[in-house]
Amino acid sequence: MSVKQPVRCNCGQRIVTKDVTQTGYYLRMMGPSFVYVKYRCSRCKKLGEQFVKQEDWEAGILNDIPIEVNDGERHKLTKMGPISIHEQIGFHFRLEKNEGLRDLIVGVADQKAAKWSRSDETEDTTA
Ligand SMILES: [Zn+2]
Repeated sequence: MSVKQPVRCNCGQRIVTKDVTQTGYYLRMMGPSFVYVKYRCSRCKKLGEQFVKQEDWEAGILNDIPIEVNDGERHKLTKMGPISIHEQIGFHFRLEKNEGLRDLIVGVADQKAAKWSRSDETEDTTA
């Protein structure tokens, strides 16, 4: 039932581990315990404080969102440059045609970077 809300400053900035200046435990005999978090926001530089449920705290609520691309992929993406308005329009129309995701990926890759060396798997994914 409990959705893990990230700790946020009043300005909306997400608070991560490096912003935290002080923590403490607020233990209760009954009901959930809380962790007291004091922080300085990295965007607006204001100090803030918040109580976080201990179970949420232990789930790594302050962890940065992990970056999913590796160095090679990042290099490729950088070389491809920003997504152009023409690519966005093309993508829009392709979505309207409701093609399968596989066709969509292949089509975009062909347009954008034929130089990408992809390993085309031949298995049929239309299940
Ligand atoms: Zn802030």
